[in-house]
Amino acid sequence: MNLGLKDRVALVAASSQGIGRATAEAFAAEGCRVAMCARNQQTLQAAAEKIRKRHNVDVLAEAFDVTNASAVSRFVASVANKFGGIDVCVTNAGGPPAKGFLAATLEDWQRALELNFLSTVYFARDVIPHMQRKRWGRIITITSITTKQPVTDLVLSNAVRAGVVGLVKSLANEFGKDGILVNNVGPGFTATDRLKELAVSRSSASGKTEQEIFDGWAADAPLKRLGEPREVAETIVWLASESASYITGQTILVDGGMYKGL
Ligand code: NAD
Repeated sequence: MNLGLKDRVALVAASSQGIGRATAEAFAAEGCRVAMCARNQQTLQAAAEKIRKRHNVDVLAEAFDVTNASAVSRFVASVANKFGGIDVCVTNAGGPPAKGFLAATLEDWQRALELNFLSTVYFARDVIPHMQRKRWGRIITITSITTKQPVTDLVLSNAVRAGVVGLVKSLANEFGKDGILVNNVGPGFTATDRLKELAVSRSSASGKTEQEIFDGWAADAPLKRLGEPREVAETIVWLASESASYITGQTILVDGGMYKGL
C-alpha cells in the first residue's frame, strides 16, 4: 500500500521514548522528514540520531516542555522554517499520575490539564495556519482508552482526556474545509516505561507483584497480551496517510479489544 507520505513533514511531540518515539520512527520509515521533542536533551538526541541513521531522513530534535506555550511556538516556527511547512502533527505528552479522586490535589488537576489538554491546544494553534497554507494537514492526538472507558485510579486521565476528544471533534468540524483531518488515537495497555510506572503504583497499592499486574492487564484484553508501541505508531501513520483521506473527527482505539462497549 502506498501511504503517500514520502517527504511529508511530521512533527511528533514527546518522542524520546515509548509510543512517541515509535511514531517518529514509523514516519521516518515512510520517508518523512521528522521533528521530535521531549524534555530530556540526551535521551531525545540519542533517539533522533538512531532514527536519522536507520532511515536516512532529516530529523530535527529540540528539548523543551510541551506545557510551555512559547516553547511550543518557537519549535513549530523552527520546524516550518527548516522544512518549509508542517504536514502532520502528532500531539503527545507523559500521562498524569495514577490517583483516585480524593487523593488528587488541585495541583494534580492543574498539571494534568496543562500536560494532556493545553499542550494539545498549543500545538494545534501553531500548526493549523501552516496546514491551511498548503490546504493539507493531519493532526493526530495520542490520548488513551480512557476516552471511551474510565480506568480505575486514573481519574485525571479519565476526565481530562475527554476534553481532548471534544477539541478533536471541534477542530475536525472547523478545518475540514481546509483539507485538515483531525483524529484521536487511544492506546490500551502498551508496553512502555509509562506502563511500568503504573504497574509499580498498582503493585504497592494492591500487594500484588508487578508481574501479576501486567498479567492481569493482558488477560483483560481479548488478544491476551499487551500492545507494542509500534502497533500504536503504525495506526497513527495510517491515519496520516492518503489511505485514510475520508476519516476525520474519530477516536481509534489500539487496545487489543480491551474496550468492552459497542
Ligand atoms: P512514556 O512515559 O514511555 O513516554 C512519554 C514521552 O513523553 C517521553 O518521551 C517523555 O520524555 C515525554 N514527555 C513527558 N512529559 C513531557 C513534557 N511535559 N514535555 C515534553 N515531553 C514530555 O509514555 P507512553 O507509554 O509512550 O505514553 C504516551 C502517552 O500515551 C501518555 O500520555 C500516556 O498516558 C498515554 N497512554 C499510554 C498507555 C500505555 O499503556 N503505555 C496507555 C494509554 C495511554
